[in-house]
Amino acid sequence: MALKLYDSLTRSLKELTPSHADGVFRFYNCGPTVYASAHIGNFRTFIVNDVIRRLLELEFGTVKIKHVRNLTDVDDKTIKRSREEGRSLADVTKQWTEKFWSDCKVLNCLDPHEQPTATGHIKEQVNMIEVLMEKGNAYRGADGSVYFKIDSFPGYGALSRIKERELKITDDAADSDHKDSVSDFALWKAYKPAEDGDVKWPSPQGDGEGRPGWHIECSAMIKKHLGDTIDLHTGGVDLLFPHHENEIAQSQCCNGTSMANHWYHGEHLLVNGKKMSKSDGTFYTVDDIIAKGYSAAALRYALLVGHPRKQLNFTLDSLHAAEKAIKTLRNYRAALPAIGGNPEAFAEAFKALDDDLNTPGALGAIFTIINRGNEGVDQTAFDRVIFAFGLDLSETAAPEVSIPDDITALAEKRWAAKQSKDWAAADALRAELTEAGWSMLDRKESYSLEPLKK
Ligand code: AMP
Ligand code: ZN
Repeated sequence: MALKLYDSLTRSLKELTPSHADGVFRFYNCGPTVYASAHIGNFRTFIVNDVIRRLLELEFGTVKIKHVRNLTDVDDKTIKRSREEGRSLADVTKQWTEKFWSDCKVLNCLDPHEQPTATGHIKEQVNMIEVLMEKGNAYRGADGSVYFKIDSFPGYGALSRIKERELKITDDAADSDHKDSVSDFALWKAYKPAEDGDVKWPSPQGDGEGRPGWHIECSAMIKKHLGDTIDLHTGGVDLLFPHHENEIAQSQCCNGTSMANHWYHGEHLLVNGKKMSKSDGTFYTVDDIIAKGYSAAALRYALLVGHPRKQLNFTLDSLHAAEKAIKTLRNYRAALPAIGGNPEAFAEAFKALDDDLNTPGALGAIFTIINRGNEGVDQTAFDRVIFAFGLDLSETAAPEVSIPDDITALAEKRWAAKQSKDWAAADALRAELTEAGWSMLDRKESYSLEPLKK
């Protein structure tokens, strides 16, 4: 069977097929903004995309898929963070890129074939902006920034079905004075010394200095690494508008052809009924979960138990259940013969995955088989379906980090000191924790503990 996914543009379930003569399936997935630790909501999206990548590999073969995921290493948030911390932009984004990569490894995500950075593709972005200016799709505003002229692209809004009236409401008022129309968006932002520090490059057409807008980076990196038309473009549902709508406008006006044959958007992970969000401080990181003693495999499982196109409310109880499920899967595998079973034993599970990535349906099918027993099942067939989910069932993948009671007590004391603004006591208690080999990470509403690396 072939993988079918819901396509946000045509609003229909469509089979994924490579459209290029070389048979290589071209897959682009918007990557993280590297100014802080990615949270498990972000990882829900990246893990769902990893499962898509795995299913495509199983269907087309490993060499017939090219998967690209970018790193947003220059934008308002990254620049703000570097200025707040008095560190260079490169220093900050390197730290969080490395952290992102190590979390991806912990969560058993396959490496994309390319992970291009926005700062590594300034020339490509400038080139595209210059083409858009020459074609009359972009213009320089009075402030020196370059804007995309939405009226020049009749197809604008096809992905999000957004209406002109709604566009005006979502507009960033701060830039309005410099644009022809309030709904136009920035391709290039003119240099503002007070905000941008030393982050600047020569502007398109050599006219002044500035930095790229957020949307153009993906258009430029897709063009360079995958070509003008790709087979699948994905991201979380919050990227559908304006990011992906703007990507379509830029790429299609520049390249004169359709940008992506398929658009897929995963839904959000919620915490207490609200979107898990970096900027709101309402999130768990991978480290938080591991520090609570759960395995990375259980976290990955918990993020896949809900249908990827439905919101999923995250709870620690779901991790508890996931940990049990992982143990069941591990024990079941251990009792299976290596070969000799039915190669199609897990056909029902693959059928569910191929039908719009129905991960809960597929897990249900796997557990139905497990409940029936081992007959006709071998490790080869089992490993294939576990590969699709990307679950590492080895014992070593389950680090049982337990926090000693005296460390928890110290942390609680320090948290209380911090709440009552007794900074001296809080600092002294942090020193005690460090001495004992633990690091305490503070958040708005809570904290987490991590063992210091030896
Ligand atoms: P960012 O680092 O903010 O650029 O986001 C990286 C990816 O995570 C994007 O595809 C977002 O759509 C996605 N994302 C952000 N928040 C959540 C969430 N709470 N649940 C699922 N995906 C999310
Ligand atoms: Zn993007």
